[in-house]
Amino acid sequence: EAGSAEHDVVVIGGGPGGYVAAIKAAQEGLKTACIEKRGTLGGTCLNVGCIPSKSLLNNSQIYHQIKHDIEKRGIEVGEVKLNLKKMMQAKETSVNGLTLGIESLFKKNGVDYVKGTGTIVGEHEIKVAPIDGGKPKSLRAKNIIIATGSEATPFPGLEIDEKRIITSTGAIALTQVPKKMVVIGGGIIGLEMGSVWSRLGAEVTVVEYLGQIGGPGMDTDMAKTMQRVLAKQGMKFKLKTKVMGGDVSPDKVIVNIEGAESGKAETLDADVVLVAIGRRPYTYGLGLENIGLETDERGRIIIDQEYRTKVPHIRVIGDVTFGAMLAHKAEEEGIAAVEYIKHGHGHVNYGAIPSVMYTHPEAAWVGLTEQECKTKGLSINIGVFPFSANSRARTNLDTEGLVKFIADKETDRILGIHIVGSNAGEMIAEGVLAIEYGASAEDIGRTSHAHPTLSEAFKEAAMATYGKPIHS
Ligand code: FAD
Ligand code: NAD
Repeated sequence: EAGSAEHDVVVIGGGPGGYVAAIKAAQEGLKTACIEKRGTLGGTCLNVGCIPSKSLLNNSQIYHQIKHDIEKRGIEVGEVKLNLKKMMQAKETSVNGLTLGIESLFKKNGVDYVKGTGTIVGEHEIKVAPIDGGKPKSLRAKNIIIATGSEATPFPGLEIDEKRIITSTGAIALTQVPKKMVVIGGGIIGLEMGSVWSRLGAEVTVVEYLGQIGGPGMDTDMAKTMQRVLAKQGMKFKLKTKVMGGDVSPDKVIVNIEGAESGKAETLDADVVLVAIGRRPYTYGLGLENIGLETDERGRIIIDQEYRTKVPHIRVIGDVTFGAMLAHKAEEEGIAAVEYIKHGHGHVNYGAIPSVMYTHPEAAWVGLTEQECKTKGLSINIGVFPFSANSRARTNLDTEGLVKFIADKETDRILGIHIVGSNAGEMIAEGVLAIEYGASAEDIGRTSHAHPTLSEAFKEAAMATYGKPIHS
């Protein structure tokens, strides 16, 4: 019984940060509980984030390809029809299978799964309000790990109803394809969910405040390539443009926009407006004030290098604290936080966390951008290789994109790798490993890569960094 004795570790939040921390703690022999209020495990990522969005991205891409890109491959099909309801069911099947999978991993590892909302009421005590409305119970913990995640940042003046003014949560659950969709924010969510609905037939316009798409941290060359490719697929872009507000009437939404530099005012009509301007840490009801824990100006819980708050046995990981809001980053922190508790040391290499955007083609990167290298005053060599010169991409009739290597001019040590290409998200793993091991571009250039594979473009971009590639 979860509430009967003191736990070594109580984790609040069952997302990628929290559930991984809980499993790891149990594997380390610590008596562990994980409190989750959603009713299912897996957090934002499995329930309304990474997993459902990737299901829709994959299946909408297959639909789009069969509709627009199949005849040149010598395949003739009859009428191609979308069954959105089935596409959504396929998404739900994947989500349900995976969230239940985590529940069975909890059982296998002996983690107590506590279904309810956790509020910290004392430095070692958490009150849980069960989701079934039963009597609140109390858990005592030697160590607490907070992993309560994040929520969509609202846009002032446009009230979210998840039907016409939506966040990503509405965007993975629309029941019909909108005719016109306006996306506020050209970051990862805007481009991924914009791609889904554009492929399924919506006319999508992305309004972005900055001069480039892709959100923070995307190399400018890659952002430009991505914009050109997505525009070819039918998405429209309004960069350096501010959304001033909107008027919601029964039949449409009018979005008022203004050039950030020009000041020129315009309006856009939409059936659906997707608000995708970032996410913010979620600490509502957590009870931080009960023990005097502080957040910074962006709502992130303040911690030290070992994930400790000023109450040292309370640690914080994932989206609710500093760093990239990525599932795999939260997972690494979950493991490291438990290792600190159990062994007194843990490690995450923040210089080697990959980012992937699951559009088609995908974009993926790790390490520094060219712009960041310039800001740091680093002397660099750059090597580029286009997929149009790669034999496998040519046989796949899928040649958009390139690989870009950035290496230190003196030492040839790899500083950053940026890819736009159909399997960029898988290919970047080699780049992450290279950076993790401190490899030089020449180390990669001298490593045999199977022919014919897309990964030969990766090798040749490395060769282009310190010498010349063979095929371009
Ligand atoms: P979360 O996953 O947000 O989990 C926190 C959990 O804590 C929630 O389930 C919440 O219900 C629970 N909780 C909160 N407060 C309490 C409380 N007081 N008591 C009990 N439970 C509580 N990242 C990627 O790496 N790859 C992707 O492809 C990707 N795609 C995404 C797509 C979308 C549409 C979105 C929105 C996000 C995506 N992300 C992706 C980001 C990823 O989902 C997050 O970085 C990740 O989920 C963070 O994990 P976490 O454990 O910190 O928090
Ligand atoms: P983001 O930070 O990636 O992008 C938000 C974009 O909105 C930025 O380009 C910003 O300049 C723009 N913006 C902000 N305010 C604006 C305004 N008023 N008008 C116009 N543009 C504005 O945020 P997101 O796309 O909402 O994603 C949220 C988080 O979820 C990110 O941290 C992201 O890493 C994570 N996520 C990751 C994945 C993935 O890994 N594939 C997928 C989805 C989400």
